[in-house]
Amino acid sequence: MTLLGSTNTENKMSSPQDEWKNKLTPEQYKICRLGGTESPFSGKYNKHYEKGSYICVACGQELFSSTTKFDSGSGWPSFTDVMNSKNVKLIDDYSYNMHRVEVQCSKCNSHLGHVFDDGPPPTGKRWCINSVSLDFKPL
Ligand code: FE
Repeated sequence: MTLLGSTNTENKMSSPQDEWKNKLTPEQYKICRLGGTESPFSGKYNKHYEKGSYICVACGQELFSSTTKFDSGSGWPSFTDVMNSKNVKLIDDYSYNMHRVEVQCSKCNSHLGHVFDDGPPPTGKRWCINSVSLDFKPL
């Protein structure tokens, strides 16, 4: 696991975007920094039910607990809640002629996925998150 939260302040020639390109794999860059979406049922955490926490792959901030993970059938890792609401940012997303709520990491602004109102109890929320945006920390 690589944590990528620190920025290189000594190299003034590289832009923040260049730094992310160097620190992330091309797939991670596309999803985390360009707001892409992994193919459904392709991600390594879709059917993953070990105990622990899911963290931001780009900066290491804790995001989701395995205790809130459920199989939504969507093909993406799904959670009923976030570990701490301060750790995510919610942004209205009007792409593709619809209104969705985008979820970003509050620390590094990486794109994580979207949150929907059709989840199971107790929250009724379905946090639909790309595996590529996550890393897993076992309990
Ligand atoms: Fe992050």
